[in-house]
Amino acid sequence: MQSDTLPRSRSGRDPADLVEAGNLIRTGADAFDGTDTTVSASSGPERVPVAVIGAGQAGLSVSYHLKQHRIEHVVLDAAERIGDVWRNRWDSLKLFTPAKFDGLDGYPFPAHRDTFPTKDQMADYLEAYAAKFRLPVRVATPVVRLSRSGAGYRIETTQGTIEAGSVVVAAAGYQAPRIPDFATGLDDEIVQLHSRAYRNPSQIPDGPVLLVGAGNSGAEIAMDLAKTHEVWLAGRPVGHIPFDIAGFMGRKLLVRVVVRGMFHHLLTMRTPPGRKFRAKMQNRGMPLIRTRPGQLERAGVKRIGRITGLQGGLPVAEDGKRIDCRTVVWCTGYHPGFDWIDLPVLGSGGHPRHRFGKATDIDGVYFMGLHFQYAVSSTMVSGVGRDARRIAGWIAADQRVRSSASG
Ligand SMILES: Cc1cc2nc3c(=O)[nH]c(=O)nc-3n(C[C@H](O)[C@H](O)[C@H](O)COP(=O)(O)OP(=O)(O)OC[C@H]3O[C@@H](n4cnc5c(N)ncnc54)[C@H](O)[C@@H]3O)c2cc1C
Repeated sequence: MQSDTLPRSRSGRDPADLVEAGNLIRTGADAFDGTDTTVSASSGPERVPVAVIGAGQAGLSVSYHLKQHRIEHVVLDAAERIGDVWRNRWDSLKLFTPAKFDGLDGYPFPAHRDTFPTKDQMADYLEAYAAKFRLPVRVATPVVRLSRSGAGYRIETTQGTIEAGSVVVAAAGYQAPRIPDFATGLDDEIVQLHSRAYRNPSQIPDGPVLLVGAGNSGAEIAMDLAKTHEVWLAGRPVGHIPFDIAGFMGRKLLVRVVVRGMFHHLLTMRTPPGRKFRAKMQNRGMPLIRTRPGQLERAGVKRIGRITGLQGGLPVAEDGKRIDCRTVVWCTGYHPGFDWIDLPVLGSGGHPRHRFGKATDIDGVYFMGLHFQYAVSSTMVSGVGRDARRIAGWIAADQRVRSSASG
């Protein structure tokens, strides 16, 4: 049965209390008996069979599945609190997937199945998920270097060094904001920020705003700002889902067709339409999911083509038009941000070389939450569990091989 509130842990403590900076909740053979196995992290190098880097939905999903295999591991996250990636997104953000598609394996999202959770509810859900399954998360533990160490891997964090036999990088393929080089030449009077730093309209000075990038973030921020500002949205149309996801038919039926049917089952690396869609996405990005072009037009958002450079400190579009704006919000996406990985696993543009998340050039390194890791749904809440199950299965198989080889 679903309820509107997040659960308390079996011990009666608030779930958030179980996951603390520098603390480890142990897994392994005794991990399912319900006793609180919190122990302090020891100083100096420490050995674990598996380290997962990142405790967003991708890292927590892998951790859940490693636990199903009773594999001892730790999950390391840079943030102060599980869910902070969602908490730090803009204030009005609601998920575009209804609650029935926002639960991770083993724990449905606790809200009415056809409602759209807020970003803070999603953040709290992730925190509760980690507590419910006693996942061994260490927050406030950024990994600053991942390198080879003998037959395993050395993970240097600001809290000490860990050695692991296998590593899962679940840090998302988009940590470093991407801003065009010409941004440095913008007139000093123009305020500029990346979409990652956008919170709400009160943060933006009066006057016209130019949003560069017309993907989902650009379109949603345009709708948010159009109530208070004159808004320009620059970029080529990326296409859109041709129905209202929040309408009756959308919520009841059509979202299922898109999220489960297309994004999860049809558009995968194993199908020709999936591989074709992936190539298209690399050039154009995802189609608009919640926002439709008509809505932008009715809200008064002015559309313009790609911004190609500057003239006299002002942004110029591909048709030569200069936009006299007071603020620029770069909705231009992210670089992978894997420069802390000191292993031969990255290819062009710093993207991992992998097959379905398993590094192709080196054993024992896995990735989670990459764009189109296996399917469109690989970066979505509803799709991440399938990839996590596969990777935990591979790690379990590796471990069986290692333990039979060692006698
Ligand atoms: C605006 C927006 C709205 C979205 N809405 C939806 C939606 O409605 N439905 C849906 O299914 N999907 C949605 N998504 C897609 C996806 O669900 C989210 O992006 C989700 O946050 C991805 O989870 P993740 O675990 O892969 O990565 P993240 O949530 O980014 O988590 C990665 C974690 O890794 C940690 N980390 C990174 N580097 C290090 C390091 N060096 N050391 C230690 N820790 C590190 C970070 O602190 C972070 O906690 C949305 C995405 C965006 C951007």
